[in-house]
Amino acid sequence: MKILVINCGSSSLKFQLIDSESEQVICKGLCERIGIDGSQIVYTPAGKDKITNVTPMPDHNRAIELVIEALTNKENGVVSLEEIGAVGHRIVHGGEKFTKSVIITDEVIKAIEDVSDLAPLHNPANLIGIRACQKAMPGVPMVAVFDTAFHQTMPENAYLYGLHYSYYEKYGIRRYGFHGTSHSYVSKRAAEILGKDGKDLKMIVCHLGNGASISAVDGGKCVDTSMGLTPLEGLIMGTRTGDIDPSVVEFIMKKENLSVSDVTNILNKKSGVFGLSDELSSDFRDLEQGYNNGHAGAKRAVDAFVYRVVKYIGAYTAAMGSVDAICFTAGVGENSGFVRKLICDKLGFVGASLDVEANKVRGEEKIISTSDSKVTLMVVPTNEELAIARDTYALCK
Ligand code: AMP
Repeated sequence: MKILVINCGSSSLKFQLIDSESEQVICKGLCERIGIDGSQIVYTPAGKDKITNVTPMPDHNRAIELVIEALTNKENGVVSLEEIGAVGHRIVHGGEKFTKSVIITDEVIKAIEDVSDLAPLHNPANLIGIRACQKAMPGVPMVAVFDTAFHQTMPENAYLYGLHYSYYEKYGIRRYGFHGTSHSYVSKRAAEILGKDGKDLKMIVCHLGNGASISAVDGGKCVDTSMGLTPLEGLIMGTRTGDIDPSVVEFIMKKENLSVSDVTNILNKKSGVFGLSDELSSDFRDLEQGYNNGHAGAKRAVDAFVYRVVKYIGAYTAAMGSVDAICFTAGVGENSGFVRKLICDKLGFVGASLDVEANKVRGEEKIISTSDSKVTLMVVPTNEELAIARDTYALCK
């Protein structure tokens, strides 16, 4: 079966067409600037060059039409419309309602709407993507795969904040966690690589990308994760603060005469390694270069980022009692041997020892610890689209 995977944002739409049997990507692409001047669809059919089509996209319905046109056109198309057997949608927030992927029905759409206030930027955009696909492909089964679902196994002591309990009861304020599809995929894949049953392993998954999160996975189940009610909590990220004292918000508001939303914007978009590096960059390729060239901001940012990761690894080792494997994934985790080395050099307290030669790997599955390391260090590239396609196939076949 050919599965169309859709990741719909407010002004963008990423897609991949995946063959469920071979698990190969048949075509992938991106619609950008939906509803904004200068919109375009860029896509790459497998084995062919990238194709760019600059064309008006007033809304997501038109974007989906263009995706279907790209997949089915006579010249570069890769399938007929009838061959698309199912669509898998990435949904950011499933609240407490969704603990696993589900076939999309009217009730599911209503439930996703009901938790939209927990992800006001993302869930409405995800719903627009669902509706646009339903319009363009009536009768084709669709599946919702939630970023939060894998983390729903966290125990109460890990997901509750030290807030008055009534806020949890009234509004569902708690830790939910994100990147769940990635944490789930990587922890399962790591167990396969190690030739062990996930039930027998205690793992820490470090998803280090532009957005970054870390999770403790005990016996195949998430027991804690660093992102919270929203993806702002936890590690220092590309432009997000991660953990801060909430009083900082009021403090900056008063000092700079700003509104709550102004400060929230600063915490999300002007902070993290970007802000710490004096705005040198949010990209670790630039930060590595800056670090090696003596740029004080780059050093400050990278050192703070690394420290926060190590601190969480310590906390999650304590939460699980011990750790068998630590996995690195996403843009930085998969590609930056530099950042991995800075982190792993501080993991002697769990008995981890890095194989410097093996750590030169980029974007490939590899064990990067020495043979006498007490903890297995590994690079496991994530593949959220494949995980979404697998769930979609499992529910629709
Ligand atoms: P992601 O959000 O997982 O797509 O990760 C994107 C981030 O990965 C970029 O902003 C970079 O910081 C980082 N990245 C990608 N490639 C490399 C690389 N070769 N070396 C270091 N960092 C990289």
